[in-house]
Amino acid sequence: MEFKYFMPSKVFFGENCVLKNQEQFQVLGKRALIVTGRKSAKKSGAYGDVIQALAFSGIEHVLFDEVEENPSVETVERGAAKGKDFGADFVIGIGGGSPMDAAKAMAVLLKNPEMGLYDVFAARNLGKIPVVAVATTSGTGSEVTQFSILTDKKAQTKRNLGQIVFADLAFVDSKYTQGLPYEVTVNTAVDAFSHLVEGYLNVNAANNPVSDLYGEKGFELFKDCFQKLLDKNLDQDFREKVMLASMLGGIQIAQNATSLPHGMGYALTYFKGVPHGLANGILMMEYLKTFKDQSKIKKMLAILGLENLEALGQVMNQLITLKVEVTEEEILSYARDFAGNKEKLKSHPEEMSLEEIAKIYRNSLLK
Ligand code: NAP
Ligand code: ZN
Repeated sequence: MEFKYFMPSKVFFGENCVLKNQEQFQVLGKRALIVTGRKSAKKSGAYGDVIQALAFSGIEHVLFDEVEENPSVETVERGAAKGKDFGADFVIGIGGGSPMDAAKAMAVLLKNPEMGLYDVFAARNLGKIPVVAVATTSGTGSEVTQFSILTDKKAQTKRNLGQIVFADLAFVDSKYTQGLPYEVTVNTAVDAFSHLVEGYLNVNAANNPVSDLYGEKGFELFKDCFQKLLDKNLDQDFREKVMLASMLGGIQIAQNATSLPHGMGYALTYFKGVPHGLANGILMMEYLKTFKDQSKIKKMLAILGLENLEALGQVMNQLITLKVEVTEEEILSYARDFAGNKEKLKSHPEEMSLEEIAKIYRNSLLK
């Protein structure tokens, strides 16, 4: 057996973890660029905790609170420019995946101030200034992954920055997610579940016992989480379990990467505005059905306490009610684009033709 395992983020999980570990910020620098979305960082209490922790160590900060969902190249460049003017020596991303991913990309630009973001996409192994990630959704696991997913309007898609940007410190406190509306809770939970599934069924999971441990623990947590989501019982027990599942999914894709639903879902987000997690969820069942070898899927279903794929399909159908209007032409165009994404296709363990890719889109969207 031979495998690699790399997860360098220092993780603090649990209630009030930011304030309980406030001295951790001291070693990162003296001037912080804080990166958030428009409102939720403040409303969730996460921003207040971070400010208090920074004050404890006399660290100055400037706030960039303009990160939109699925952050664009332009937003990242504006945020980095603000950090540069301020002389930031580290970056703190507070929010869902969008602000955390934007913060990671800004940290690379601040380390390489002569570069624009398109130069960064084209380069490899660039450095970054230190990054802190404070998660306020239970979905992306970005606080423990090396990825930074940005919207590239020139390429008309979302794409990974292509650098390895793990947060130095990751704070994971489910109390910040208590005010998440039901819909966002579902979208983000489905994203976390997709990471666990795509990581578990990934080519890179073969012979990697470490990644399977994360996947299987995640499915065990989702057994309860799915039931609570269906019952709309989003109590503290649910919030904590789904936060843990999300973090485990992040650690798993940091090892294995995502696969078809993520790669194929980007088109639905870019062209149809479908929230990231739902885009994966909409494609999930047809993706699972394509596997000729269903053995690992059966193991996953057993851990989830579900009898068969149809039972998982029923859960998904109840959680995802969004209908996406697409034409056959659009489906063929998405399928052709995805067939060119050799990286993502490589992570799928079985052969996948253009026609099969189109079929996943067609059966998922035109039902
Ligand atoms: P998000 O895009 O960060 O945020 C979605 C919405 O939820 C925003 O309106 C945000 O409001 C709100 N929100 C966030 N936290 C909240 C809270 N505690 N209470 C109330 N509202 C809250 O959502 P996300 O699903 O977490 O992130 C999706 C992004 O992550 C996508 O771009 C996706 O591609 C990326 N992603 C990254 C990775 C990775 O490994 N790096 C993995 C998967 C996905 P505000 O704008 O006010 O904050
Ligand atoms: Zn995702």
